[in-house]
Amino acid sequence: MQKIIDAHVHLSERRDDSLNRFAKMHGLKYTLDGLLRTMDKYNVERGLLLSPPLQGGSPLPNEEIIKLCGKSGGRLAPVVTVEPTAKEVKAAIRLAEENRKEVKAFKIRLGYVKAFADSPAFNKLYDFAESEGLPVLFHTGDTASDTGDLVRSHPLTLDGLANAREELRVVLCHFGNPWFEDVAELIYKHPNVYTDISGLTTGGGAYAEKFTDWLVKKIEAAIYFAGGAEKIFFGTDYPITTYPEALALVEKLEVHNADKEMMLWRNAKRVFGL
Ligand SMILES: [Zn+2]
Repeated sequence: MQKIIDAHVHLSERRDDSLNRFAKMHGLKYTLDGLLRTMDKYNVERGLLLSPPLQGGSPLPNEEIIKLCGKSGGRLAPVVTVEPTAKEVKAAIRLAEENRKEVKAFKIRLGYVKAFADSPAFNKLYDFAESEGLPVLFHTGDTASDTGDLVRSHPLTLDGLANAREELRVVLCHFGNPWFEDVAELIYKHPNVYTDISGLTTGGGAYAEKFTDWLVKKIEAAIYFAGGAEKIFFGTDYPITTYPEALALVEKLEVHNADKEMMLWRNAKRVFGL
């Protein structure tokens, strides 16, 4: 079976986790044990663990993410979520320093926090991430809440940051959905800009199947435009998207098997040092 690395997983084991409803909807056992079993089933060797949003909107404290990863037997690696204040940036850097071997990336929740990617509030974080070679993941595109800020989560807001900081590894989560073409241009243009295919198959309503076909065409077109898939990671956004749904997207792509393999694990291994 094909080896897989999942570059975008959420988990908390808390009742006030706002993703509980997705787990319920998909019939998933939203616990560490349940997740590890599911990963085994689909041959997912490793995953990057990101804070889920709690009811009320704030992310699960990063310490809990690090704890869960510690109990995963090396299967899950923590991503530290950073909010746009000097205090939060300082705390995130300290946590990454204290857990230097474990922490693999940072995450910024564009569209949910009141800051653009190039906000000066993040300058110290970017300095640290650049010097440590730690990628920064950005939520981009559609927001789960209808009060999200699309002007701040638009993928093109990352172009300025990537121009200003050529060494910074930038990951645009969710392929900037629905702005796939903008992301295609960004990963083509910038040597250190990447994207993931997580959390995509949630829309379409009565046209869910057609919507999946539309997603496949968009991802394919981006790969053709960029000339390959070396900048694209596989991810589920578990429990928002299930493994069968996310894997079907990759399976349906009319691209070389080598590109699928890069998406499914090779790129994540290389870029996150997993
Ligand atoms: Zn997510």
